[in-house]
Amino acid sequence: MGAKGTSLTGVKAHNRMEIKRMIYFHAPVTRQKIAKELGLTLPTITTNVAAMLEEGLLTEFEAQDRAASPLGGRPSALIDFRPKSILGIELGPYNTLFCLTDLRGKTIYSEAFGPVSRDYESMLGFISERIIAFEREASFEQDKATGIGIGLPGIIDSSTGIVHSSLYSSWNGKPLAKDISKRICLPVFIENNVRLRALGREMFSRNEAVGIFAYLYVSRGIACQLIIKNNLLGGNVSGAGEIGHTTILPDGPVCPVCGRHGCLESVSGEGAIINSVLAAIERGEVKMLTELITHGESLTIDHILNAQENGDIKIGAIMEKAVKFLGLSVANIFNFISPDIVAVDGYIFKNKQNRIILQETVNKNLYGLRNSEAKIDFLSYDQYSGAKGAAAFVICRQLLN
Ligand SMILES: [Zn+2]
Repeated sequence: MGAKGTSLTGVKAHNRMEIKRMIYFHAPVTRQKIAKELGLTLPTITTNVAAMLEEGLLTEFEAQDRAASPLGGRPSALIDFRPKSILGIELGPYNTLFCLTDLRGKTIYSEAFGPVSRDYESMLGFISERIIAFEREASFEQDKATGIGIGLPGIIDSSTGIVHSSLYSSWNGKPLAKDISKRICLPVFIENNVRLRALGREMFSRNEAVGIFAYLYVSRGIACQLIIKNNLLGGNVSGAGEIGHTTILPDGPVCPVCGRHGCLESVSGEGAIINSVLAAIERGEVKMLTELITHGESLTIDHILNAQENGDIKIGAIMEKAVKFLGLSVANIFNFISPDIVAVDGYIFKNKQNRIILQETVNKNLYGLRNSEAKIDFLSYDQYSGAKGAAAFVICRQLLN
C-alpha cells in the first residue's frame, strides 16, 4: 500500500501505519530495528513511538538478554503493543461462536451456541444480549474505543456494515454493524466469514508474510480468499472469493444458492455431499447409514465421514467425486495465479484419504508448475477460526490502520 498523496499529513499517517504494522508483526522490537527495517530515521521512529506510548497503545520494556544490544552496552528498550483482548463472533449456518483472543490470536475465553434465528430482529436481540453476558462471564471489560468483530457468510459490505446477501433473506439489505452497535454502545465491524478466516491465519500465524496466499474454505458453502502481500483482495463489489459458485460441471445439479447448474458448491459442498448420500441410501446402496435414517436421525457430515473411515465403498466413491472437483478448482487456482501456498480449511479434510485425493488431483492438473510448487496447507480444524478472524479484523481496522 503506497502513501496516500504526497501531503505531509499523508506521509506522516502512512509512516505511523507502517511503524504499527512493523511492531505488530515483529514484536518485540527496538526503535533501532524499526528504523532500519522501514528505512526511516531514528528521530521519526522515536517521535511516533513516544506518541503511541503516551496514548497507551504501546508498551516498552528492557530486553532480558544482550542480543537486542549489538554493541554489548545497555540493552535497548523493546516495544510491543499493550496487551488487549478482542471479541470476535461468527454467525455460521451450524453454530454461533464467540471467542475472546489476545492480540496474537490466543484464546482467552470462548463459547459456542446453536445457529441464530433467521428472523433479523430476534437475531439482533440474541447477539446483543450474549455480548453483554459474555463480558460478564469472561470477566473482561470491552475497550469502548476498539469494538468487536462479526463474521458471517454472504456478500458483506464491510465499509458500510451492510449485509447485501446472506444465509437468510430477512437479513439482506440490513445495516447489521450499526444495528448491533446501537444496542451495545460499541463500534462493530462486519465482514464475510471466510475473508476473516484468511485474515486471521495471516495475522496470527506469525510466519513470515508470504507474497500471495489463497485460503479455501469448504463447509456447506465454499469460498476462496486471496491475500496479496498482507492485503485481503476486496474486488469491486465486495464479492471477491465466491469460487463456490463458479461452474465446474455444466450439466450438474441445480445450486439452491445461485440457481445455476453444477457450480462447485452444488457438487462439493457439505449439503451436496449429504444429498448424494441420502439419494444413495434411498437406492439401497449404503448399508452403514440405513439404520440411522430409519430411526429418524438426520444425516450429518460427521455420520458420512465415520462411514467413509469405516470403509463404506459407496460413501468413499461419493466423497472421492466431491473432493476431485475441489482438487480441479485448487489446480485452477494454482494455474491461474500461482500463489505461494493454498491453505485448505474444511471439516471433510479431517479424513486423510480426502487430503490425499485433493493433493493428487491438484498434481495431475497443474500446468507449468512442478508438484513441489503447488503447496497445500491443510489446516487443523478449529471451530473458532472464523470468530478469531473477526477479532483479527478489529485489530487491522482499529489498531493497525
Ligand atoms: Zn451455486
